[in-house]
Amino acid sequence: MASKYVFDQEVEDLAKTILEAESYNWPQLPNVKFLVLETENCDYLGKCSKVTGKWKYLTGYNYVIEVWRTFWDSADFETRKALLNHEILHIEPVYKRDESFDWGLKKHDVEEFYDIVVKYGCWNDSLKAMKEAINNKAKIVG
Ligand SMILES: [Zn+2]
Repeated sequence: MASKYVFDQEVEDLAKTILEAESYNWPQLPNVKFLVLETENCDYLGKCSKVTGKWKYLTGYNYVIEVWRTFWDSADFETRKALLNHEILHIEPVYKRDESFDWGLKKHDVEEFYDIVVKYGCWNDSLKAMKEAINNKAKIVG
């Protein structure tokens, strides 16, 4: 299967609902294009990219958020919401000294190797906070 990007109304509608319903503390709503990547294999489930330079000028978009079709089609509603909300959280205004801003890309709260967690557990504050969040959510859901 050749890979291609397509528009998907279902993705667009759910993403816009999340964009407008959540409180993100942004100075304005960014212009985001949502796409679905149709390809056999993909090393990510979703991706948020900042649009820059000539592409920003030509399209007017600040970001492109893509989701992988195979994962999307296999995911339930809550998982789809989690994926889109995750990608949207990468959107971040970066303020300058004069209080104007550029759009940037926010990094994950936790970045770690699975092998390190297996060996050493939650060895730093961000991992401890993530463990607590997972445990709290497990109490609500489980
Ligand atoms: Zn991410």
